[in-house]
Amino acid sequence: MAEYKRPQNEQEFNNNFKDKTPLMNDTQAYYESSRCLFCYDAPCMNACPTSIDIPLFIKQIHTGNTEGAAKTIYDSNWIGNACGTVCPTGVLCEGVCVYNNQDVPPLQIGRLQNFATRTVIDSGKQLYKPGPDNGKKIAIIGGGPAGIACACELRTLGYTADIFEAKDKPSGLTVYGIAPYKISNEEVLDEVQYLQDQLGFNITYNSA
Ligand code: SF4
Repeated sequence: MAEYKRPQNEQEFNNNFKDKTPLMNDTQAYYESSRCLFCYDAPCMNACPTSIDIPLFIKQIHTGNTEGAAKTIYDSNWIGNACGTVCPTGVLCEGVCVYNNQDVPPLQIGRLQNFATRTVIDSGKQLYKPGPDNGKKIAIIGGGPAGIACACELRTLGYTADIFEAKDKPSGLTVYGIAPYKISNEEVLDEVQYLQDQLGFNITYNSA
């Protein structure tokens, strides 16, 4: 049995925790998206807990509409970037991709999802804006993924959304419970900031 070797320096430590699914470049995303068969009644979409239209966003990536692909993802899942990385895709969308029936590697759906969402996060592309103010305020207890998603949804409907979070960072489990080889805290926080910049929900930290 291989013996665990404790990292001896920062470089070894960083190497141990480096990203297991690095961001695709444009060429990799173009090639990978070209493999999709755009199945009717796509099993990958049916297996997605948030019902993202996976064949659509893959097609959008393949045709150069990466921002449209990100919108397709965020329309179904406000935490689309983090989920593309931390979701157990091997037993969900990728696990049921029809290529598995031919002993061919399934589409790398999670990495394609990250490619699209990271594109808009990094560029700051505005995809959403708050709905017309309806004069109503809603308090949300907890700034984890559900609280953030709730706030985004409410803002698009014109509510003022105030999140009260016990800790000093948003995103709950995604920040405090996921190993950095899956997703770094910086990447998680970038996505929350991206959503907050567009939709303007409030978060009060250390408040419970
Ligand atoms: S099951 Fe695989 S090939 Fe079919 S639409 Fe989904 S990702 Fe594409």
